[in-house]
Amino acid sequence: MKKEIKFNQEYDDIKIVELPLPEHIFLPANRKNNKNLEVGDKINKFDEVVPGLIFPVTGEIREFLKMYVDGVETDVIKIAPVKNGGDEDNPERNDIADKPDDNLLLRLKRSGYILESIIDSDSDIVVSAVDTDLLCSVSQQILRENRKDLNQNFELFKKIFNREKIHFAVPEHLFDMVWKLQSRGVNVFKVKPNYPNGIPEILINSAIEKNSLKSPLYLKLEEFLNICDAAVTGRPNFKKVITLTDINGMRNINVIKGTPLSHILKDSDVSSAVKVVTGGPLRGYANFDLDTPVTDITDSVYVQYEKDVIRAVNNQCINCGRCNGHCPVNLSVNLITRYSEFSLFEKCRDLGVDNCIECGLCSFYCPTGRSLVQLIRLAKSEIKNLEGEIEQ
Ligand code: SF4
Ligand code: SF4
Repeated sequence: MKKEIKFNQEYDDIKIVELPLPEHIFLPANRKNNKNLEVGDKINKFDEVVPGLIFPVTGEIREFLKMYVDGVETDVIKIAPVKNGGDEDNPERNDIADKPDDNLLLRLKRSGYILESIIDSDSDIVVSAVDTDLLCSVSQQILRENRKDLNQNFELFKKIFNREKIHFAVPEHLFDMVWKLQSRGVNVFKVKPNYPNGIPEILINSAIEKNSLKSPLYLKLEEFLNICDAAVTGRPNFKKVITLTDINGMRNINVIKGTPLSHILKDSDVSSAVKVVTGGPLRGYANFDLDTPVTDITDSVYVQYEKDVIRAVNNQCINCGRCNGHCPVNLSVNLITRYSEFSLFEKCRDLGVDNCIECGLCSFYCPTGRSLVQLIRLAKSEIKNLEGEIEQ
């Protein structure tokens, strides 16, 4: 029998607070591509020393290291930003922004955004202001703060990418704020702000059903606004809004990408925290290093104290079927996870483990508390390794 819980994601207007620059930022960058850089090098904000690697701050390179970023071991450059006046824009980039005849798309490409999937296709674009996990109000807040400029941005985007119409998914409770866009070539459609409706794959499926779209492309509202901004300024936007939930409650803060979690948590009671989860309580990862940097996908930071933590256990499956019943992509979760537990990864692949969207509902509803998402992630990564070995 299904235990129905409504995961409501309707959050109040909680404003976005700016955090000052941290002591260090950690910039993910493949070391193979930046061998010309050395410790002690001075860099300027917006410098593109290596193609595709644009520096978010003015400062000095302190170290090259490896660390886990979004759950993957990654090469990282540690930079000490120059504070008080060292964060101004690179003049050359400003020149680009000022050129009146500069083509918008060209300017956008110079900003380092990878846009081929939009440029090289005629796919419908779905911009989403629906947050992707619980305890996250980034998209809702960005929608509230930018509602007056949305029409202008949609017009700009349509012009650059040659689209007649754009689809815009908004949480039901914020529809009144943007309904007027409908008369201006934007198809605004309401989404119940209940988890997991905002997960890209689920949202896209509902967009296909509601609006008969063909192979639509998903853009988070924050990403969409950054692209529009870059087309005007010729510069990428290195700011990232995140929702922090800790002992002081829930708030939205604006930081530079690459900011370590420790900087964000300086007002939190970290000493009594048991876990710091990024990416949301149902879809996120626990971090064991507080130097872990904020990236494009760090929408939330959730500090868990003893009372919040559900301890991972690996009890035996009792075949109740709740995991399967709640899986939004209809996987045989009980079978897949048992195969994964016994390292039978090829069987997991045959049962379609790659279709799992890691929503976490199976784990949430499992009465024996099995670590189902972890077993699924293990299977996915082992399959990737196996496929890599076969290709070599
Ligand atoms: S996390 Fe679980 S419930 Fe969610 S898609 Fe994957 S298998 Fe299904
Ligand atoms: S994994 Fe958990 S929810 Fe799924 S069938 Fe087994 S006991 Fe039930």
